[in-house]
Parts: sequence; C-alpha cells; structure tokens
Amino acid sequence: MRVYLDHAATTPLLPEVKKEMIQIMEECYGNPSSIHHFGRQAKTHIETARKKIAQAFQVSIGEIFFTSGATEANNMVLIQSVETLGKNVILYSPIEHHCVLHTIQYLQKYKGVQAISLTVNERGEIDMDEAESLIHKYGDQAILVAMYANNEIGVIQDIQTLGVICKRNGTLFHSDTVQMIGKYPLEFEKLHLTFASGSAHKFFGPKGVGFVYINSQHPIHPFIHGGSQERNMRAGTENIYGIVGMASALEIAIKEMVARHAYVSELKNYFKERLQNELDDIVFNGSPNSLYNILSVSFPQSEKANLLVMNMDIAGICASSGSACSSGVEEDSHVLKAIGHNPKRKTIRFSLSHLNTYDEIDYTVEKLKSMTPASVG
Ligand code: PLP
Repeated sequence: MRVYLDHAATTPLLPEVKKEMIQIMEECYGNPSSIHHFGRQAKTHIETARKKIAQAFQVSIGEIFFTSGATEANNMVLIQSVETLGKNVILYSPIEHHCVLHTIQYLQKYKGVQAISLTVNERGEIDMDEAESLIHKYGDQAILVAMYANNEIGVIQDIQTLGVICKRNGTLFHSDTVQMIGKYPLEFEKLHLTFASGSAHKFFGPKGVGFVYINSQHPIHPFIHGGSQERNMRAGTENIYGIVGMASALEIAIKEMVARHAYVSELKNYFKERLQNELDDIVFNGSPNSLYNILSVSFPQSEKANLLVMNMDIAGICASSGSACSSGVEEDSHVLKAIGHNPKRKTIRFSLSHLNTYDEIDYTVEKLKSMTPASVG
C-alpha cells in the first residue's frame, strides 16, 4: 500500500485537468503573441483562464498576471515593492515560506532594506498588537508580508484585520495565499490586499505555473524583462497548457470546495483522535484556526522516532519531516523554531486531501504505532 499524505507539498494532477491540458497541447500550438489564427487561438485560451481566475477572487482581469509559480510571484512583489515603489521597511512573519524569507534577506543585504520580524505565539499566530504598532510606526514606508495559511503547521492568520490596519496606515500588504487557494473562498480586495500569490500544483493543477495579483492602484515594474507578454509585466512565451490547467483546477476546486472541506475535516479529526487515543505523549502543532487538511504531529524523542520519516517511507507512507538538515545536523524547521517547539521532539507534517480514504488513515495509524516508542493500550 502507498499512502500519499503530503498534499501541502504538492497535489496530483486531476484527470479532468490533464485531459483539458492534453487537448490544448494537441490542438493549440500557436504562440499567443502571433497575430494569425493560431496565435489568436492560444491567446483566447489564456484570456479565458485569466477571466476565470479573476472572477474566482473577485478582482479585475487586469490585476492577474501569470508566473512560473508562487516563488516567482513572491520574489516579484517583494523586489518590486522596494525597487518600484520605494518601500524601505519590510514587516514580515517569521514563519513565511523560504521563497519569501530568502528574498527579504537578499533585499536586506543588497538593497539596504530594514526587515523587521513580527512575533508569533506558540500556535504560530501573529501578535496583532505588535503588528498594529509597527504598521502605525512605519506607515507608507513599509510593506507588510504575512502568509494567509502556513504550509507546515497550517495556522491561518487574521488577514482581514491586518488588511484593515494596513489600509488605515497607508502600508502595502502582501499575502502568500498559496495554501488557502481552492480550500476557502478568497476575495483579495475585501481583504485589502495589495498583492497575493498562488500556485497551481497546490490545488490539483500542474506544476510550474502560478499567478500574482497586483492591485491596480499599486502598479509595479516587471520582474522579468523581454517581450510584451502579460501586458508588459512578465516577459516570456506563456505556459498555455499550465495556465489553462490552473484555471480548470481552480474551477473544480471551487465547485467541490464545500464537499472537500467537510470530508477532509472529518478525516483529519478521525486521524487526530486515533493518534491521541492510541499513541503516547504526542503533541499537535498549530492553532485551532488551522487549515483543515494539515496535521502537524510531534513525537517524543527516541531512536525509533529519529528514523520515522524513513520508516514511514519504507511502509509506503509519504509525509514531510518538520526538520531540515543544516550543516549535517537535523534541526527543527524555521517555523517550528519560531513557535518555540521542543527540538528534541520529532515532527511530521501530514497533509490530507479529498483523495485520501479512511482505510489509508487506519493503515497509517497502525504503522505509526509500531514505529513510535510507546503506544497506549
Ligand atoms: N508559498 C508557500 C506557502 C508554499 O507552500 C509554496 C510551495 O512549496 C510556495 C510558496 C512556492 O510555490 P511554487 O512551488 O509555485 O514556487
């Protein structure tokens, strides 16, 4: 048996999406920049996809730009907020994805930007009082960067309130919305976001394609220079199949949103309860307000626990470790460190989807019981 419990890392391509992509691959090979029939045909597919995506987030089509993924989108927003819009202070949550954190470090080192890390509590929630006073202090000099939902522990931030505070103080606001898209309804303007990013492979679409939302009141210069694609905002021949696949996957996710949410929440609760009842001394990371599909579990220290990811893989269970190898030593991830996690415990992130079954969860629990040091009863 092979059980895939790593949907926060990536998701499989839905067969319906694949079918649509293959059809475009076979029938539509024109370059969207060409003015002849084949070019116009390709362009139409791209613009139809843009319309679907803009509608999904209740924004105008001129505010959605296609990219190679969320890494590019996050780099673009941060670098151009500094270079185009002259922001010199970045307020950020310490649990952002590395594509955000490393870009901030770059801007700090090479562009003289002042980067201020916000405090998060042991559940990963941003200290709102501190955030408010920093936003007030730096006002229109700053950009606030806070991911909507964290990819390791699932904590969901109060983006709505942060948006209101930013708006009141003239502060730009970027949210990495990657892990929320397709799972919860999102309206970028209502959240007072200046920028947002998305990635198709996190919602059962293809890899290598994503988008950036740029509020029309805050235009930035392009990040990649070249041709006039994406209305001069992102040069390079468009990934037509990817873009069409992303729009199609999003459409399906929205249609199935309520059903997926209900099923996966119940499945996760079942998993959590079984772990709680049948394994000894485990801790769940995150907040009560966490993504419905992520379960971050810390196991007590032992020789067996250290081999957990490898043993799970041997047993056919695919999940992610909450630690990274730094200079040959296993260390808690930056997210676990930020929430003050006990580094002696071994953390595994299980991320579920509607494709998982109760049988798979039962199998996983039984295997975990034999792989962890102590189990109850
Ligand atoms: N942001 C978050 C929260 C993610 O989970 C990921 C994916 O790992 C990314 C950004 C990067 O997305 P992409 O793979 O499209 O570059």
